[in-house]
Amino acid sequence: MIRDTTLSSFVHSGSPARIVFGRGSVQTVSAEVERLGCSRAVVLSTPHQHDEATRVLGTLGALGVGVVAVAEMHTPTAVTARALIEVENFGADCIVAIGGGSTTGLGKAIAARTGLPQVVVPTTYAGSEVTPVLGETENGVKTTRRGPEILPETVVYDPDLTDSMPIELTVASGLNAIAHAVEGTYARDGSPIYTLMAIEGLRALRDSLPALVEAPSNQDARDGALYGAWLCGTVLGGVGMSVHHKLCHTLGGALDLPHAQTHAIMLPHTIGFVEESVPQTLTDVATLFGGSAGAGLHDFAVDIGAPLRLADLGVTADQLDLVADQAIASPYWSPRPLDRDSIRRVLQDAHEGTRPNPRSGSPA
Ligand code: NAD
Repeated sequence: MIRDTTLSSFVHSGSPARIVFGRGSVQTVSAEVERLGCSRAVVLSTPHQHDEATRVLGTLGALGVGVVAVAEMHTPTAVTARALIEVENFGADCIVAIGGGSTTGLGKAIAARTGLPQVVVPTTYAGSEVTPVLGETENGVKTTRRGPEILPETVVYDPDLTDSMPIELTVASGLNAIAHAVEGTYARDGSPIYTLMAIEGLRALRDSLPALVEAPSNQDARDGALYGAWLCGTVLGGVGMSVHHKLCHTLGGALDLPHAQTHAIMLPHTIGFVEESVPQTLTDVATLFGGSAGAGLHDFAVDIGAPLRLADLGVTADQLDLVADQAIASPYWSPRPLDRDSIRRVLQDAHEGTRPNPRSGSPA
């Protein structure tokens, strides 16, 4: 099934992060802190996950110095500044971040400013824990930077911590992970290893998300989804993203939309748009999700009860114009060339949640 188009020439850089995976592995966080040569770990979380953070602090014993539960979505720099003061007051020499991409983002922002090593314990499928990328928001503008100092040293994936994830977040976050892998399959700087990871990550999430919708406490499916999220996140960290991620970034920054839901809604439309003109770039995705990548992803989203319409997030038609203007203002590579009208049309389709047309000749 896997195409060999990347075999003619490629450069592959692997991620140097250490991965610990398995049920109960949260108990190894203290050993991982020691392995980094640290003895004063501060635990980060959102206010919502304060109790989980306190439990992780308990597993650290004498190695834990306190909890800072202030993480917010899109990593506002004002929140980072507040957290930094607390981290310094604790005299911390290590960060343990437990939560989704928002908490990972706060940990990365502190690491970028202090050089402290990070142990991340993810509880969603966002994938940020395995990328050297940090997005921060200041005065309503979100900017992104990357660098080796941002990549967390250690990631502890414990599916036990995802068992209680609400099904709405499970579905949206799972589609967020799927988006990383789908764009990874046509990345300009792809490699055979990242393609393998993307296909396997997509397969794992395609199989596990419907099972979780059926039975949210299905442990095999929880394990499979977190495994898939790791692979998809690794692809996000290893290769360049394109039209889908850039449009979601613009939407999120301009309108302060929820991250995972925005990705979930946009995915069939951005991918359907690419597929319309260059279907060969999406052959693997089409095979995995149906006869057509865009329509197959839409049908999958419908089946698992994902959010489908930007209108349901409160986005207005006027705002679509603004986002289209912003998106075209900073050009980037896309397998299908972009212009303002086509971006506006993709946004309109996502606003209405229409089913993308299957590519001609495909069974859809
Ligand atoms: P999130 O971290 O904001 O989590 C959403 C809410 O769900 C929070 O209140 C959180 O505390 C709660 N939550 C998390 N896990 C839970 C669980 N298992 N059970 C119950 N509640 C839980 O959402 P997210 O989608 O994981 O992350 C979004 C953020 O991550 C955005 O700011 C986005 O830009 C960033 N992100 C960055 C990268 C990167 O590579 N830099 C990649 C992906 C996402």
